[in-house]
Amino acid sequence: MTTGNSILFTTHVGNPGGAEIKMLELIKATPHSRVVLLEEGTLENTIQNYGVNVTVAKDSKSLNQYRRESSIFSAIRSIPTVIKLLSFARKETKDVKIIVCMSQKSFLIFSLATLLRNKKLIWFMNDIVSSSHFSLFSRLVIKTFARLFSDVVVLNSQASLHQWKKSGMYCKREVVIYSGVNDALINTSPESINDEHSVSQLIKWKTDFSLIGMFGRISHWKGQQVLINALKDLPKHKVIFVGGAQFEDDSYKSSLLKLAEELKVNDRIIFLGHKENIFDYMKLCEVVVHCSTSPEPFGRVIVEAMLCGKIVVASDSGGPTEIIVDGETGYLYPAGNAKELAEILSHLPILKEREVMENAARSRAIKFFTAKKMCVDFRNLCQQL
Ligand code: UDP
Repeated sequence: MTTGNSILFTTHVGNPGGAEIKMLELIKATPHSRVVLLEEGTLENTIQNYGVNVTVAKDSKSLNQYRRESSIFSAIRSIPTVIKLLSFARKETKDVKIIVCMSQKSFLIFSLATLLRNKKLIWFMNDIVSSSHFSLFSRLVIKTFARLFSDVVVLNSQASLHQWKKSGMYCKREVVIYSGVNDALINTSPESINDEHSVSQLIKWKTDFSLIGMFGRISHWKGQQVLINALKDLPKHKVIFVGGAQFEDDSYKSSLLKLAEELKVNDRIIFLGHKENIFDYMKLCEVVVHCSTSPEPFGRVIVEAMLCGKIVVASDSGGPTEIIVDGETGYLYPAGNAKELAEILSHLPILKEREVMENAARSRAIKFFTAKKMCVDFRNLCQQL
């Protein structure tokens, strides 16, 4: 364990998702920080490559048994792993002043591990606290821990803050910091080599069709089924789905393939799986779609597409309503409504009008949603603590 570092970042996730990509940006902008991961995975290597000290807890996979929608019984099954992690976390935080938790589980573990030890706890709460995402038990746990242990809860949109308060959550201090995207990555994303569906293959595949891209985890509430339903009314369009099934099994993906077959659109969709070079695939698309069926806390992929100069059509609830100005920098449609989605997609502006909207989207993303802005907000917060 390295000593003398004053800020420690932690997450329970071993492979990068939205929250971890955000953490990587914050780490790069925070000198003298180090990282503790509560699960093994590819993130360890990525952080080491930045020259940042990282420690990983071993054999903690069983913590995954407990999910935010789980009941008290699955929490009880995780107790042996939690006890092991508590002693690990206690050792790791000896010389640390500020602990930045990027996930709920890491916040719970580090709250208990630093009990009565005068550490400042910042919790990046990257979710909307609602009954569709969290069980009653999970909401009770969050409420109790946030009230007792957190110094600041950072929410990723005004929508998340609104729902946080509406659910009766409370803590010493709440702030909104948007989940910023590093715009430099758009021009430097790694080449896809020996890819099953390389960018050049997809250029051929989309000939004579308008390509729609949907980016993000393959997960029921992310709403891939809405776009497949819309596709039956869009005969001149094809779709690429980019993203893996991080927290779910493959049953949802199988149901999507079945739906596409029933609607006879299966020859016009491709699932590409998780991609590191997501921007290369965004650039290929004429339009990007975001379909979350319950309110999206923020929606990084929307900002990423806007930075690529793409028009995004997204559900009209949660974070997307703060990112997109409807009709000016993209479009919003009623969440879950495949007919409305198809209607917008078949009447997108063309030529000059389209260019104006694409430029407006890029400008708005650069003005409000970059990693640079997020890091400045974060540094100010740490200084105040
Ligand atoms: N992402 C990626 N490759 C993929 C799919 C997603 O790198 O194949 C990244 C994407 O670029 C974004 C993040 O994962 O930065 C997803 O964040 P978002 O807020 O959209 O959704 P979350 O997964 O956090 O719910």
